[in-house]
Amino acid sequence: MVKVVKFGGSSLASAAQFAKVGDIIRADKTRRYVVPSAPGKRNAKDTKVTDMLYACYALAEEDEDFKGQLKKIKERYNSIINGLNLSLSLDEEFKVIEKNFKEKAGVDYAASRGEYLNGIIMANYLGYEFVDAAEVIFFDEEGNFDSDKTDKVMSKRLEKLENAVVPGFYGSDAEGNVKTFSRGGSDITGSIVSKAVHASVYENWTDVSGCLVADPRIVENAQPIKVITYRELRELSYMGASVLHEDAIFPVRKAGIPINIKNTNAPEDEGTLIVESTCQKADFTITGIAGKKGFVAVSIDKDMMNSEVGFCRKALQAFEENGISIEHMPSGIDTMTVFVHQEEFEGKEQQVISSIRHHVNPDVIDLEADLSLIAVVGRGMRSTRGTAGRIFSALAHANINVKMIDQGSSELNIIIGVSNSDFENAIRAIYDIFVMTRL
Ligand code: ASP
Repeated sequence: MVKVVKFGGSSLASAAQFAKVGDIIRADKTRRYVVPSAPGKRNAKDTKVTDMLYACYALAEEDEDFKGQLKKIKERYNSIINGLNLSLSLDEEFKVIEKNFKEKAGVDYAASRGEYLNGIIMANYLGYEFVDAAEVIFFDEEGNFDSDKTDKVMSKRLEKLENAVVPGFYGSDAEGNVKTFSRGGSDITGSIVSKAVHASVYENWTDVSGCLVADPRIVENAQPIKVITYRELRELSYMGASVLHEDAIFPVRKAGIPINIKNTNAPEDEGTLIVESTCQKADFTITGIAGKKGFVAVSIDKDMMNSEVGFCRKALQAFEENGISIEHMPSGIDTMTVFVHQEEFEGKEQQVISSIRHHVNPDVIDLEADLSLIAVVGRGMRSTRGTAGRIFSALAHANINVKMIDQGSSELNIIIGVSNSDFENAIRAIYDIFVMTRL
């Protein structure tokens, strides 16, 4: 059994957090490969080291004095080193970083130093070997992650090591320069390492005990989700419930490795297990609820629309021409409604309307703004009668008007459109009907 453990920024923000992480790793010998993030926030007002590095490098790029900023970053690392009583000095590393900043080594290089330095501390603290991610993670000429090369080089390197620390977030590009993933990318590194060492599980340690059935800012004491499939997670993350970087799923999913989201501050909590498929029943009929505010419904009406060949294609062309992505498209016999993001649509609404007129000459175009979409997701819905009925009667009892309904043929989710002002109440009503009644 081999486990890869990735720790997020809040799990490594201070010496006290490092000590918790040390206990977690030492408690299980199979936790052999460790992927750290850069130190995150110690409290709500604090700044992440990655953000400090971006700000510091921005000064360097403008040829302004960045030494004060760099010193503050060094102090954050030194407080971790001293708090852990390590005999480690990062003086030489900081000299190199200062020189490279002066020489404008690039913003990705700058940001990556957060994980790089934290990796050195972690390796020293655990007595594990440090493997620089720039030597084992690669991007191709186009800047895309090179999965084949990475897998080959990394498996070969880690095969020989009983234990290792591989810092998250970066690798190197085709020219050998440091390149980072997008923000939150240490999750991706953890997934890549898991694939390379054929891990039995990828443990992703953070500051919550996994995914919850609903957003805890909306539903008080929302229940945790014990097991979720990749597809369910994708539906929920798309609707804003984020626990993990989206791209972190692909490497492990391909290799059939489950992800376990765990809480560094409550290690005994089971957390959430993310799997390809499962015959384990979810605790409730639904697995999760998530939603997003800020949509506009563009309704296009035309008599005899249904018999006009190519009507939908031509109407949608109006959105495509204006670079607007489409979220949902419920339709009737002589009407089709297109849900789009309000932010994206607002600046271009008149162009879109005139393109629709030009392409399909409709009778009426009606716009309704300030709408929300809510996804009720659950593999359990497929085999259960009456799920939709319960959702809509709960919403009716809560006095909420449903503006749109869309159920995918996979029966994995039901999407509901409501007014922004009903958003929170709708989520609470759906949560209550499934979770509070435990059905
Ligand atoms: N430190 C990077 C960030 O703040 C990457 C990560 O933490 O995953 O985005």
